[in-house]
Amino acid sequence: RPLISARDLTKIYRLGGEDLAALDHVSLDIADGDFVAIMGPSGSGKSTMMNMIGALDVPTSGELLIDGRDIGRLSVDELADLRNRTIGFVFQQFNLLPRTSALKQVMLPLLYANPRPENGEEMARRRLAQVGLENRISHTPRQLSGGQQQRVAIARAIVNNPKILLADEPTGALDSKTSEEIMQLFTDLNREGITVVIVTHEPEIALWAGRRITFRDGHIVDDVRQKPIPLPA
Ligand code: ADP
Ligand code: ADP
Repeated sequence: RPLISARDLTKIYRLGGEDLAALDHVSLDIADGDFVAIMGPSGSGKSTMMNMIGALDVPTSGELLIDGRDIGRLSVDELADLRNRTIGFVFQQFNLLPRTSALKQVMLPLLYANPRPENGEEMARRRLAQVGLENRISHTPRQLSGGQQQRVAIARAIVNNPKILLADEPTGALDSKTSEEIMQLFTDLNREGITVVIVTHEPEIALWAGRRITFRDGHIVDDVRQKPIPLPA
């Protein structure tokens, strides 16, 4: 069974009396363990698709199963629970708290976990070590480089052991060398079994994924498997 399965997924926005289909009968399966890059021009539906995969928004019609649950049939509380347990989010602008240490940022999602783990600090330290920041746990965002801030955000996104990591333009605010380091980190996490879905408009970033899906006007116009870089060791 695919981890993510969309059937005729449609999202209509009503703008001043006019209906606009941000997604128009999209069907798509993403397997457990996939590494997917979503591309497409501005306004093609990428953010809308990510918002639905992230259980932040629900379809107008059609079906979206995330880990076997039909998000159109869940209550607000069930959607929140699905997000907390199953999905980690990474953003272009990192979205870190300005005056909070790396360790506390990464512990934050554990406050909402149910049950709340006893060893939250240890879990956060382990994730910070995994992203290469074991020597930066007391630093606040302004004491960290952009790449280091994105690593904190990634550690925060994975501290709850999500099955799916969603990243919207995760390298959009980073230079190309730092971007490659972040993509290497996503590759490592993917090899450990997490399903990674990123949105990017940079073709060289999409090369890191094993599958590249292109949206246009709310439709999938291209869906290709590719040998990702770096080539497997
Ligand atoms: P992308 O991420 O590819 O730029 P979006 O999913 O953000 O595309 O948008 C797809 C279309 O839906 C665009 O025409 C956009 O203006 C419209 N849209 C997105 N979100 C909303 C919203 N909350 N209300 C109204 N229209 C929206
Ligand atoms: P992106 O940079 O990912 O393409 P957008 O600028 O398309 O982002 O959208 C940013 C946010 O604004 C998204 O959450 C989207 O749903 C919302 N949005 C996009 N277009 C509209 C719109 N026409 N009306 C209201 N909200 C919109």
